[in-house]
Amino acid sequence: MILFKRSEDLHLWVSKQRSQGKITGFVPTMGALHEGHIHLIEASRSLTDLTICSIFVNPAQFNDPRDFEKYPVSIEKDIEMLDKVIEIYPQGNTGLETYDLGQIETILEGHYRPGHFQGVCQVMSRLLNIVTPDHLFMGQKDYQQCLIVQRLIELLHFQVHFHTVPTVRESDGLAQSSRNRRLTADQRVNAVAISKALNDIRGSLQSKGAEKALKQARERLEAAHFKTDYIYIARASDLQTISDWNGKEKAVALIAAFQGDVRLIDNMLLN
Ligand code: AMP
Repeated sequence: MILFKRSEDLHLWVSKQRSQGKITGFVPTMGALHEGHIHLIEASRSLTDLTICSIFVNPAQFNDPRDFEKYPVSIEKDIEMLDKVIEIYPQGNTGLETYDLGQIETILEGHYRPGHFQGVCQVMSRLLNIVTPDHLFMGQKDYQQCLIVQRLIELLHFQVHFHTVPTVRESDGLAQSSRNRRLTADQRVNAVAISKALNDIRGSLQSKGAEKALKQARERLEAAHFKTDYIYIARASDLQTISDWNGKEKAVALIAAFQGDVRLIDNMLLN
């Protein structure tokens, strides 16, 4: 493993490797690594010669400063993080450029976390310019983010192949997430209700219809003391809502909900 602390050093090194014919893969993360991240790295390693993994807790994508402050990092890492922020945003992380992402920016995560996806694009455009990878690997766990980054790639004509990697789960079904480590033991037990609710939707959508499937899922979350931001069934391609599903069109169910003050998200493809 080679550790780069300066974007310029990394950029030069990657350019050199690519001029020697090496195929590069990129896995952007916000640190606090878990198996889900490792899975992305494995996906990249199986397809490329060199895998570049970035660790950067991006302040521009946290609409709620308290959420940013609570994001799991250690003190030593904080110092490193501040250093990195100056690297990525030399002029500070306010008043940055904005992108025309269309309606997908304003629904679901975009509705509950205004500005979040602009922040994701602001950091992703910088990272893609520094790393210049051939392949980019991101997790289905952040389904809407995958669609947003694909849109950014189109908008800015980045020459990179995008890969969506399936969600890695704990043995009981909870999607792995850096935020899980903030759950108390009781909350951790409750948290499994999200993946159970998604499974319920997948099992009952066709027989019971969207309204009933959503009601059942909502009740399961309530019983597990979740405060729900959204439960949503959507077209997989653009997240437009689906009320009458023919069972053929690619669809996805998505949930965001609070267990205590920990906000968890998850989703499941329905076919
Ligand atoms: P994060 O560090 O949480 O911003 O995540 C960095 C990358 O890892 C993103 O592309 C996420 O979608 C992906 N990721 C996070 N959790 C998982 C998981 N449980 N399984 C697969 N990928 C994940």
